[in-house]
Amino acid sequence: MSLETIYDVDNIFAKIIRGEMACVKIEETNDTLAFMDVFPQSRGHCLVVHKNADATNLFDIKTESLGALVNMVQRIAKGVKDGLNPDGIRIAQFNGAPAGQTVFHLHFHIIPVYENRALAPHAGGSPADAALLEETAAKIRAAL
Ligand code: 5GP
Repeated sequence: MSLETIYDVDNIFAKIIRGEMACVKIEETNDTLAFMDVFPQSRGHCLVVHKNADATNLFDIKTESLGALVNMVQRIAKGVKDGLNPDGIRIAQFNGAPAGQTVFHLHFHIIPVYENRALAPHAGGSPADAALLEETAAKIRAAL
């Protein structure tokens, strides 16, 4: 999966956007969707995607579509900051498998960091408890 990977309309995030796969949603706009990562690196790890761009990575999306996506990243990161009180927040975005990308639909990670708590590995481990994800999403939502 190089930087030239063709967009696959059946990738996991496309299915989530179409409602064919479940997710724990935080917020949705006409253009964007924010939802919890099911293999979180920390409590509150969430993802923001564009719903209409069909972009594999950052190089695929039209510049004029990027604004809505980045605005949503900032909005949800503020919700994470105010709702969960982490000590830091990492924003990440991977392009191509060699860089760590595992789902080939452009997305931004919002990863809260808590002092003295190591992050879990990226895109690994077992899925988070569904009730805990719902509870965490509710805290973020309430802070928006
Ligand atoms: P990437 O490696 O492409 O930057 O990030 C993909 C992210 O999607 C990973 O953090 C991984 O935990 C998450 N992920 C993988 N499968 C699913 C899924 O089915 N649902 C949700 N909500 N997240 C997923």
